[in-house]
Amino acid sequence: MRSEELFNEAKKYLPGGVNSPVRSYQPYPFFAQEAEGPRIRDADGNTYLDYCLAYGPMVMGHANPVVMGAVLNQMSRGTAFGVPTEKETELAREVVNRVPCAEMVRFVSTGTEATMSAIRLSRAGCGRKKIIKFEGAYHGAHDYALVKSGSGAVGLPDSPGVPEETTKNTILAPFNNEEALVEIFDQLGEEIAAIILEPVMGNVGCIEPKQGYLKFLRKLTQENDSILIFDEVITGFRLSRGGAQEYYGVTPDLVTLGKILGGGFPMGALAGKKELMEMITPSGDVYQAGTFNGNPISITAGLTTMELLDNNFYNDLNSSGNQMRSGIQDILDDKSLNYQVAGLVSMFQIYFTEKEVWNYADAKTSDTGKFSRYFHELLREGVFIPPSQFECCFLSTAHSPRDINTTLHAIENSITRAESI
Ligand SMILES: *Cc1c(COP(=O)(O)O)cnc(C)c1O
Repeated sequence: MRSEELFNEAKKYLPGGVNSPVRSYQPYPFFAQEAEGPRIRDADGNTYLDYCLAYGPMVMGHANPVVMGAVLNQMSRGTAFGVPTEKETELAREVVNRVPCAEMVRFVSTGTEATMSAIRLSRAGCGRKKIIKFEGAYHGAHDYALVKSGSGAVGLPDSPGVPEETTKNTILAPFNNEEALVEIFDQLGEEIAAIILEPVMGNVGCIEPKQGYLKFLRKLTQENDSILIFDEVITGFRLSRGGAQEYYGVTPDLVTLGKILGGGFPMGALAGKKELMEMITPSGDVYQAGTFNGNPISITAGLTTMELLDNNFYNDLNSSGNQMRSGIQDILDDKSLNYQVAGLVSMFQIYFTEKEVWNYADAKTSDTGKFSRYFHELLREGVFIPPSQFECCFLSTAHSPRDINTTLHAIENSITRAESI
């Protein structure tokens, strides 16, 4: 069956025909058949160079043979035990060795659970209720974090079914704006349990922190006895061996991890200072539990992945990112288009706006109609990126310099056609 028919059939049984909303786009999404290395093949027989990479996890490309070998080996020994395994300690040790703030780790099954648990832990650790998050930041699909993007005010629910009682303790702030935060802390400093942020915003395109901004957040939270949580579900093990906190040299109190950590399988984690982490059940009384926490398949895939992510790996990965971004910049310069080439290391995106993008409001000035034409033209050229302007594109070490050159030609053609309509 072809993707269009598969989608029509799927809509009968799955709301909107998909299991996560970002996967749906007009007129219908392609259905995956298989993927290997940098490529994904659909049910219609088309092959695409993939820069969505499952929204970030596949940092070595799809179906890495070393990881698959280790997983198959583990599968033959059992897939869930309900009792501890030695490998959980090994992966926790690896996380502690890599990630500056990590002294202890709790493995969970998704990034969503990781941020939900980290927020609970920060509230318990501070004995306070309020948390600050940034406009446009995504921390998973749970009630604490599903807060409507507004301006500086107390958050309203971003979805029916989330009670205002839940989100009234979530305060929104604009990213990269020191004054707005100082104002919030002047008023409410003694009530704020935590600031949670994506150190590089990856769910509204790709927005870097301004020079010194993360250090400012570290200082502000320290002065107010609040907890600083880096949500590194995307940036963890992508920006560097130790994630954004190593890359920028700013150490938070807690970190949430996911995506790359599971080596292509569902996994999340929270990690941080021992005194906080030991408050988690059963060593403490902050409740956290999960049937599939530390699942041996995900742990094996994560551990095998970590063994391959050494300094050489990051050099290769980042030089691909540089090739891609400078290639895109050249294309835009040739066409005298003043759009923004965003990203760093192995992350990139084009914002179809002439405004520099430093926060959610800036990102929203993008021409999303033009982006959508660009996306569809890229598909016709055999390149798959996330279908939304407000997602980030990712590279893997499976993408060769030649693949990137091919992609740059596709980008050039796609921008030309998106502009000419
Ligand atoms: C993807 C993501 C999450 C949620 O992770 P899931 O595994 O999808 O639940 C949380 N935070 C950030 C920054 C993410 O990108």
